[in-house]
Amino acid sequence: MTTKATNYLTHFRNIGIAAHIDAGKTTTTERILFFTGRNRNIGEVHDGAATMDWMEQERERGITITAAATTAKWTRSGTEQEYVVNIIDTPGHVDFTIEVERSMRVLDGAVAVFDSSQGVEPQSETVWRQADRYGVPRIAFSNKMDKTGASFDLVLGDIRERLGAIPAPIQYPMGEESDFKGIIDIVRMQTHTFTNDLGTEITVGEIGDIPEKYAGKVAEMRAMMIEAAAEVDEDVMMKFLEGEEPTPEELIKALRKGTIAQRIFPVLCGSALKNKGVQLLLDAVIDYLPNPLEVPAIVGKVEDSEETVAFPADPDGKLAALAFKIMADPYVGRLTFVRIYSGTMQSGSYVMNASKDKRERVGRLLKMHANSREEVTELKAGELGAVIGLKDSGTGNTLIGDGDDAVLLESIDIPEPVIKLAIEPKTKADQEKMGIGLQKLAEEDPTFRVESDQESGQTTISGMGELHLEILVDRLKREYKVEANVGAPQVAYRETITRATDVEGKFVRQSGGRGQFGHVKIRAEPLEPGSGFVFENAVVGGTIPREYINPAQ
Ligand code: GDP
Repeated sequence: MTTKATNYLTHFRNIGIAAHIDAGKTTTTERILFFTGRNRNIGEVHDGAATMDWMEQERERGITITAAATTAKWTRSGTEQEYVVNIIDTPGHVDFTIEVERSMRVLDGAVAVFDSSQGVEPQSETVWRQADRYGVPRIAFSNKMDKTGASFDLVLGDIRERLGAIPAPIQYPMGEESDFKGIIDIVRMQTHTFTNDLGTEITVGEIGDIPEKYAGKVAEMRAMMIEAAAEVDEDVMMKFLEGEEPTPEELIKALRKGTIAQRIFPVLCGSALKNKGVQLLLDAVIDYLPNPLEVPAIVGKVEDSEETVAFPADPDGKLAALAFKIMADPYVGRLTFVRIYSGTMQSGSYVMNASKDKRERVGRLLKMHANSREEVTELKAGELGAVIGLKDSGTGNTLIGDGDDAVLLESIDIPEPVIKLAIEPKTKADQEKMGIGLQKLAEEDPTFRVESDQESGQTTISGMGELHLEILVDRLKREYKVEANVGAPQVAYRETITRATDVEGKFVRQSGGRGQFGHVKIRAEPLEPGSGFVFENAVVGGTIPREYINPAQ
């Protein structure tokens, strides 16, 4: 419910950009930051200008592994209304699923980015299912419309068939591949034609300007969208049945309702690389994704009882916050990223870490912008930011007011590592330094474990996949100046799935074997024609029936 105290929240959107590696998440995020005015230095992603990729090796590898939150501002096109858009960075690589899950907890909506030339790929499916699990409303961005092989229809079809979701196309591309020249807004029936290379000059045309050759497609898409809207809204349904045209306002209202209920998924198109469609994407974030008052209030569990309490977003309520990311920062030491669900966190105040039963002092508070940090005195319900000064709070910990009754917010499931390597310093004298470095890295990342065998003196590290460990070994070298040799990976589990046709599409939480093992690497091609897929490092949950699984010999 909106009250005077919570009114500001209607202008908040806490979103993530979810995609698998290479779909264009970094480029899209960078362009969003460019258009929201906080990042004027537009550049190629992999030449070192990407703002969200904080760590050196992320840039080199072109993957994003941090889950920082960046605050941006956007004025809804055609209005004077300014919105705060907090972008929570979600990693796309399958080895960092735990990081994706953490960020899913703290966002209210997401933009799912797809590569239009590839459609919905297996990894995009994984990310989509994760968002399903956390009940995250989504809009889809069919990116790379300029690329050879790009097809908006392919993405729409894949969303329906592979993801089993109802797409509501709210746009249609004018031209595809090198011919991609503009976007038709099929809610308002307007054309947006790009007239310069930067994508910043746009000519808006009315219904009569829609080129004749797109008329058939536009009618087809509009029918698909209206049908989706009619499924969730009676007014649109009545008009639909009577053959009347709903107004753009009615359509937006219905689509917004259906999107927030996760029954339908608006689909947009564009080319992040060519800066096309990004402003319209930001408008759609405002139009269709929920503000913090429109998502269910987070629920906390009262300690030592079955009782629960809900914390509706209200700055005057009791403090309830979740720490979702710890980062070592070269300037200020340890940064704890938090989302405030309820109440207000003040700099210089004391809070209780209910997960660890420890009182902690909040030193300074920061809002992170693309190119700057803003020191603030408080963070209010619905806001995200970073705390300097918390010494003991870790990922997934609940922070409440000093002296309040202990409650734990839904915490983050931390999967067991799937892979283990022996590690030793290249120079024997570095043994102790290596131990300290590994320990620090393990504090930041709960899926990274360090063990040492007292008898043999051997140290082992374990994590979520080879790339995960490779990056950590790399950080050990860069940040702690310890070069290390690692042994061959010991894969914790490996299994072959037979009768693959029976299990296709159920790959989300792979199962079998013992315990929780995290996620899976899928070698997508059958071993032999018709024989099934090999899953490496599989297991979790219980989606694949056991009879389909033969542990590899
Ligand atoms: P991420 O791994 O999802 O973060 O993807 P990136 O943003 O790093 O993009 C992966 C690659 O796709 C890079 O080489 C980008 O330049 C390229 N790319 C991103 N967006 C587009 C686009 O709209 N069109 C084309 N043709 N390439 C793109």
